[in-house]
Amino acid sequence: MTAEIAKASSPPPLKWEYATSTEATDILDLESRYGLFIDGEFVKPRSGKYFKSINPATEETIAEVAEAGDADVDAAVGAARKAHTEVWGPMPGAERAKHIFRIARMIQERSRELAVLETLDGGKPIKEARDVDLPLVAAHFFYYAGWADKLEYAFPGIRPESLGVAGQVIPWNFPMLMLAWKVAPALAAGNTVVLKPAETTPLTALLLGQIASEAGLPPGVLNIVTGAGETGSAVVSHDDVDKVAFTGSTAVGKLIQSQLAGTNKKLTLELGGKAAHVIFEDAPLDQAIEGVINGIFFNQGHVCCAGSRLLVQENIHDRFVDKLKKRLATLRVGDPLDKNTDVGAINSRAQLDKINELVDSGLSEGAEMFQPDCVLPDRGFFFKPTLFTNVAQSHRIAQEEIFGPVLSILSFRTPEEAVEKANNTPYGLSAGVWTSKGSRILWMADQLKAGVVWANTYNKFDPSSPFGGYKESGFGREGGRHGLLPYLKWSEG
Ligand code: NDP
Repeated sequence: MTAEIAKASSPPPLKWEYATSTEATDILDLESRYGLFIDGEFVKPRSGKYFKSINPATEETIAEVAEAGDADVDAAVGAARKAHTEVWGPMPGAERAKHIFRIARMIQERSRELAVLETLDGGKPIKEARDVDLPLVAAHFFYYAGWADKLEYAFPGIRPESLGVAGQVIPWNFPMLMLAWKVAPALAAGNTVVLKPAETTPLTALLLGQIASEAGLPPGVLNIVTGAGETGSAVVSHDDVDKVAFTGSTAVGKLIQSQLAGTNKKLTLELGGKAAHVIFEDAPLDQAIEGVINGIFFNQGHVCCAGSRLLVQENIHDRFVDKLKKRLATLRVGDPLDKNTDVGAINSRAQLDKINELVDSGLSEGAEMFQPDCVLPDRGFFFKPTLFTNVAQSHRIAQEEIFGPVLSILSFRTPEEAVEKANNTPYGLSAGVWTSKGSRILWMADQLKAGVVWANTYNKFDPSSPFGGYKESGFGREGGRHGLLPYLKWSEG
């Protein structure tokens, strides 16, 4: 047989594409319109206003959600105060623990439903919502349930007491997880809560309100007021709120801090970050590639501790970047409900605009961009996984939080230079180090001005481990025993 005949009769090369594997949404029982969760029930907003919560992957409206005005926030704070004075404050810790355990169990039982709704409302890949967010959410409620009757052992020598009403404002990147980080310790410490979820992702918090109610949580202990920034502002500035916990942008964090100056309110702020991810020449390179990918493309890079500035030792820079580009080309971008998807939808049009603006600045300032050859869906908000090389320390993409799937790559020669560059940012939330030398890990951890330093791994979370920042990344710790402290006052012995 001639070569031509053989070629003509051989079958076309097989394409090894992933078959679509879409998570079903029929587990959800969605309302077309949601009220505010105040005093144990869903109520119409006194403001009379509603806004739409959309699916960022399709731009379709999922439901209308109430917009809480000042009178609604006042009602929620009033319910929380009454519940604290009459029920939750005086309740023995062991009884509070039972309530929190029950919520944790119900979160586990309904985790698929919560994960699907989280993905639908926020755009994150279902495999992340299902395998990371929801297990961690349940773990936080279990963990803090365990502390509720042991507060005096948590802090020996002091007599801890609850503060009263906690006003909590959370962002859209981890709607359920941020809720768990805030609500679980507040309740365990004996406080009641008024929570304001982000405008673009209110639905899972509302479902959690329903779950808490079904779990028998007394009315008024947890109140959920939906709305935009004005609602958040009404919560944090309400006179009868004793403690404010905020996670979000540094700009809004600063505003809240100035609003609260001169008041008696306790404040914790978990703000932005621009984490350095440092790769030394002796690092296990293939594992480091996976760590870098997880560090910046997990949740589309909408992560305050995302490893968004990669610092690679100069003698391995080119090899490492080549490997990274090859790995980038294998990421599956698209429908967040598809179980194969690695990079889902950008949370909102506004966030997509912000990413585009910063990426344009990177190009105009002279950095070199690489994006894999992937096709984005026709509808919805999507952005290709992106790398920038030839980045200077002064570039905006090396200084500002992009909060998207965009990695800025710089190089260094010595450990001292790596530290100098890593710390050259107003933020100080997290960092990552990859090296095979234990002594270098310890030295780096000591030098890096970051609340969390991961070594030979990235984005690892555990409810028993405190998390929080330095400098413009905020103050106060969430998670662990430390996470109880902002919700307590105490008298000696
Ligand atoms: P914001 O700081 O604006 O929002 C965080 C939360 O605060 C939301 O619930 C928001 O409501 C609310 N809020 C807004 N204004 C006020 C106010 N004046 N008083 C009280 N609460 C307020 O962050 P964005 O969501 O707009 O994101 C912007 C940038 O912030 C991102 O690009 C990212 O850089 C950073 N960010 C950092 C996060 C982190 O985890 N560290 C998380 C999210 C964002 P609403 O949603 O309705 O605006």
